[in-house]
Amino acid sequence: MATSTIDLYAPYDERVRTALNNPHLKTALNRSTIRLSNQRVASMGAVDGQLLRDQTRQMKEYVLRHLPDLLEQFEANIKANGGHVHWARDAAEANQIVLEIARRTNSQKVVKSKSMATEEIHLNHALEEAGMVVMETDLGEYIIQLAGEPPSHIVAPVVHKRLEDISALFQEKLDMPPTFDPEVMCAVARQRLRQEFLTADMGISGCNFAIAETGTVCIVTNEGNGRMISAMPRVYVALMGLEKMVPTVEDAILQYQALVRSSTGQSCSVYLSMSSGPRKLGDTEGPEEFHVVIMDNGRSDMLERGYGEALMCIRCGACLNVCPVYREIGGHAYGSTYSGPIGAVISPLLPAHVTNPEKLPHASTLCGACRDACPVKIDLPRLLVDLRADQVEDGKASWLDRQAMQGFLFAMRDRKRYEQAGKLANLGTTMMASLSGGTIKVLPPPLSAWTNSRDFPAFAKKSFREQWAERLSRRKTV
Ligand code: SF4
Repeated sequence: MATSTIDLYAPYDERVRTALNNPHLKTALNRSTIRLSNQRVASMGAVDGQLLRDQTRQMKEYVLRHLPDLLEQFEANIKANGGHVHWARDAAEANQIVLEIARRTNSQKVVKSKSMATEEIHLNHALEEAGMVVMETDLGEYIIQLAGEPPSHIVAPVVHKRLEDISALFQEKLDMPPTFDPEVMCAVARQRLRQEFLTADMGISGCNFAIAETGTVCIVTNEGNGRMISAMPRVYVALMGLEKMVPTVEDAILQYQALVRSSTGQSCSVYLSMSSGPRKLGDTEGPEEFHVVIMDNGRSDMLERGYGEALMCIRCGACLNVCPVYREIGGHAYGSTYSGPIGAVISPLLPAHVTNPEKLPHASTLCGACRDACPVKIDLPRLLVDLRADQVEDGKASWLDRQAMQGFLFAMRDRKRYEQAGKLANLGTTMMASLSGGTIKVLPPPLSAWTNSRDFPAFAKKSFREQWAERLSRRKTV
């Protein structure tokens, strides 16, 4: 069985069922997420991790408060450096801008560095439809491009595949002899990609952060492909969400530290590529044309609706690695570009084509592990609860949820009713448990969704108040 058999456009429940029924997916996810989490904990522990998180949070709050000014400063500096800045309201506009640059510069072959922003707007598809050849050059992205799949993790796009799956894919697509040696597989990919770098007309990347005071686009990689795509082709285009700003070079280094330690657990990445404009007279390398596309695509609305905190995300993926839901179902089950806890928050808010986006805020146990792992201290559980509350306010909660909450309210508003409900629940569940030999194995629909995968324990025979009263009277007697 392949590690991803999920139809992204299928209903949410079906996507989740498919993921849960795939044992190889669970193996692949466990291997990677546990390793990445352990590496993050060790790396943050090697410095004052709490201080780093506090400082990063403070800086990102400043950025949100001063976003228009920072964007203008960034634009002015890019222009002063000889580059071009384009503003895109939505995905269609962003795609159109990149297409026009490609047509005007007669660019036929495009090499790309890993970018969630380009995934968000389906840029590859738009370019390929216009007849261009697009090559992903990040190894993980290259693998999923060969497999015809989208990424399933913000940082590690191929996290859902085991080594065995990648080996089979390379044999099929690259005509490679069977091997499980990652170094041999990497060497084959490197050899193929080298040719693409040398013959590409245009390089496209995302942007990990953009420095306002210098007009600099920063890309963090471990493979050096970010530097090659931004320096070798004639034309370079960086696509970024408008929230990617940092005010100063010092802030960039702060965010860089928070990012690498939280994403891969490194103290520094192998490459940090910083580009501020096209090649100048006398330069031996660099693009002839340098473009930055700054994209809104729903971000201003997020800010307006009170979800600005989610715009502080630096896309490190730490919340995905610790999430008990993501670890079970992986990224494709979310059906959107962004998965895990941060995806469950932003996917319903972005104008993306996701099937059942309203289900995503419920894909969480609200355990808080994501908030504890986040280097920007984003309160993801609270944002998820806010989204659920919005659904109730907008009348979008399911009939069953509404009835359940009404029943709960009815019982909670009166002490007598609450106690009677407790007694009734105890009586009912005790009877059902005794019928099935101790624990309840089957409940009638819709509660059967619970017992399909786990037992349901009977309610306690005595309420807390009763047990407490008994305890007090025992003490008095002694
Ligand atoms: S929400 Fe926090 S932990 Fe999750 S990807 Fe964003 S910065 Fe990282």
